[in-house]
Amino acid sequence: MKRAFVIGHPIAHSRSPLIHGHWLERYGIAGSYEKIDVAPAALPAFFDRLRSGEFAGGNVTVPHKEAAFALADEKDPAVVHIGAMNTLVVHNGLIHATNTDLYGFLANLDAEEPGWSEGLETAVILGAGGAARGIAAALASRAIPAIHILNRSPEKARALATELPGPFEGHGLDRFAQLVPAAGLVVNTTTIGMHSTEFEGLPLDLLPAGALVTDIVYTPLETPLLATARERGLRTVDGLGMLLHQAVPGFEAWFGVRPEVTPQLRSIVQATLGG
Ligand code: NAP
Repeated sequence: MKRAFVIGHPIAHSRSPLIHGHWLERYGIAGSYEKIDVAPAALPAFFDRLRSGEFAGGNVTVPHKEAAFALADEKDPAVVHIGAMNTLVVHNGLIHATNTDLYGFLANLDAEEPGWSEGLETAVILGAGGAARGIAAALASRAIPAIHILNRSPEKARALATELPGPFEGHGLDRFAQLVPAAGLVVNTTTIGMHSTEFEGLPLDLLPAGALVTDIVYTPLETPLLATARERGLRTVDGLGMLLHQAVPGFEAWFGVRPEVTPQLRSIVQATLGG
């Protein structure tokens, strides 16, 4: 029986067991997907367990995404510049690390707004934390000519813009009003929106008609940013689909079946979000 896991510290909140458990049942696979609490000091010992072949692989969440990347034996060259990972696959005693958040972000937009990146000239990313790194790389992979990273701490946005390969510029959030009239896409990657917290003074009415606003925060499903955008007649995509789609490549690598993100799976996970 193949076994997979999600490790974090704490780990109780993770919805990954729900997603992978649903797929195991749906495809009739005799496998398991377990939540395991691993404290930071215990991470190297957990990696030794992995090399012994106990698991086919698993997911990694906060606070291990950077440390696990450093401990892995092989790193996916396509995401090595992100410096953080969320998926491990074990092969012949070697731990391979990758980051499926990029795939999940793009697959969600492709599913909800097909063709969204065609002809897109300018994108605005809000935030410059861990998730922003993956989103920035994902957007650069779609050859968008101009990508602005806006962050509360502008120096972090500028550092990220310089560090990652791509058409990036870093700014403070105060540049929003100047930059968005040309933007066809705004992505929130900050923690603002969680528990319905709100950005102050982001004039969404300056976005061009037909622009797309997406949020990777999914608690609540419709964040205040998305609600405002919808009220203004803009297109919106919530962040739950990213969570579902990022799980696809891992499941396929561990259990040998490429699973489908269905409305049924979405409603199962959505039912746990409350509100
Ligand atoms: P992080 O590394 O801690 O980064 C947090 C970001 O939020 C930073 O840019 C930070 O700005 C900004 N921020 C925090 N408080 C703020 C405030 N009061 N005003 C303005 N900006 C503020 O977090 P992360 O790992 O990138 O995660 C960010 C969010 O994405 C979380 O809610 C996470 O759950 C979500 N996420 C969702 C998915 C999905 O599958 N949908 C995947 C990954 C992450 P400073 O740099 O100035 O501190």
